[in-house]
Amino acid sequence: MSAVGERLTFKARVRVALADPVLKVAIDRTTGNARTKRAAAIAAWPGFSAARDLGRDIKDHVIAHLDHYLIQFERNAKASGAKIHWACTGPEACDIVVGICRKAGARTVTRSKSMLGEEIGLPHALQEAGIERIETDLAEHIIQLAGDPPSHIVWPALHKTREQVAALFRDHHHNPGTLATIEAMVASARRELRGRFLTADVGISGANFLIADTGAVCTVTNEGNAELTTTPPRVHIVTAGIEKLVPSTAHAMVMLRLLVRSATGAELTQYTTFHCGPKRPGDLDGPAEFHIVLVDGGRTRMLAEGLAEMLRCIRCGACLNHCVVYRQIGGHAYGSTYPGPMGSVLTPMLEGLPRSKDLPHACTLNGQCQEVCPVAIPLPTLLRGWRDRLWRLGLESVSVRQGFALWRFLALRPALYRQASGLAVRMMSWFARDGWIARMPLASGWTRYRDLPRPPGRTFIAQYRRRMRRP
Ligand code: SF4
Repeated sequence: MSAVGERLTFKARVRVALADPVLKVAIDRTTGNARTKRAAAIAAWPGFSAARDLGRDIKDHVIAHLDHYLIQFERNAKASGAKIHWACTGPEACDIVVGICRKAGARTVTRSKSMLGEEIGLPHALQEAGIERIETDLAEHIIQLAGDPPSHIVWPALHKTREQVAALFRDHHHNPGTLATIEAMVASARRELRGRFLTADVGISGANFLIADTGAVCTVTNEGNAELTTTPPRVHIVTAGIEKLVPSTAHAMVMLRLLVRSATGAELTQYTTFHCGPKRPGDLDGPAEFHIVLVDGGRTRMLAEGLAEMLRCIRCGACLNHCVVYRQIGGHAYGSTYPGPMGSVLTPMLEGLPRSKDLPHACTLNGQCQEVCPVAIPLPTLLRGWRDRLWRLGLESVSVRQGFALWRFLALRPALYRQASGLAVRMMSWFARDGWIARMPLASGWTRYRDLPRPPGRTFIAQYRRRMRRP
């Protein structure tokens, strides 16, 4: 998304997305594949439902005892040689990371994929500090070359087709080769990145889980780039949200089984690593310094404001892949770090409700997201909660408020309501041609992209009454 795109309203960004047929192809390819693989993985796992309940309970328990587990994690991580830093806000976290980089005299940093890094604005902070950032996750490498933000929390380059990726590599890689196949493209990226891993001054990673009773940081990848990011440089910095805690490695295993199946449909990722402090005497490799930056960034506010269930999120992306809205518009249209249903719940908290007031409405409330969520987050209920707050704070547009006022007026007068709805149904029929309405005043938001079926000649209530009168 360009800077101009960032300035557009949500509805304008949606219009841009819907007018892009290539984007639709890219979204359908990846989300369709993800849904099929997830469905097969869940079908082959009879214990899924029980594991889901357990995963939900583990997260709820940790969130209810966050103070206890944070202190336990800090104590154990320090005992393994890690340095712990606490950050209340994103800018504070960025200052800490940049400060560590400066102290290390870093000119280049490698980074493995971390949505928290995007949330706190770390790429921008590193650039401002004059530190070269090399994204090492293949999809992140693609969007770094394209200058795009991520459009999905698991597949950040989901909006790019393989043809577009080949064109990018041809333009930017030093030795791109043929790029005729996906394997050739991967090989080109590997040639481009390998040397950078070995010469980086600092490696920055996120964390999938923080293990309280050992102080370890767990990362999962399919490319091994987290290991190459964190092992060769002299300094490893972890940035992690405070909700990433689990009590023990056994609990992390439960969450890992849920996460990986929900995200990719695999049983386990190719690489699952528990990072336990800096290099020790006798170790063949590893960083000399190991820093963990624990970020609140509005999470304790979520606890206080009735959004604790959202802190269960393990960022698997399943709710995005199953969302009928996300699958039409993709991630950039949301204009925020986190897209899809989980993003529409998180963003008003992270960026403020006035700035993101369209997002709670970007949902049909069909409940698919809650059904597939591996930790059973009631996303539709949380979105309805935001809609309720929008109304109570007077943030809905004048036309919406007037529309509801009119509806309320009619709904309190049933006879008038029946007359008005009967008239509306008849008027709609005037615009129909061959059973479909292609254009109609006040309905352009719908008819611009699809036709509306002609309504039956009578309202539901009229038809119901007629049917009940029949012998
Ligand atoms: S809300 Fe649930 S489904 Fe969506 S990313 Fe988070 S854990 Fe996954």
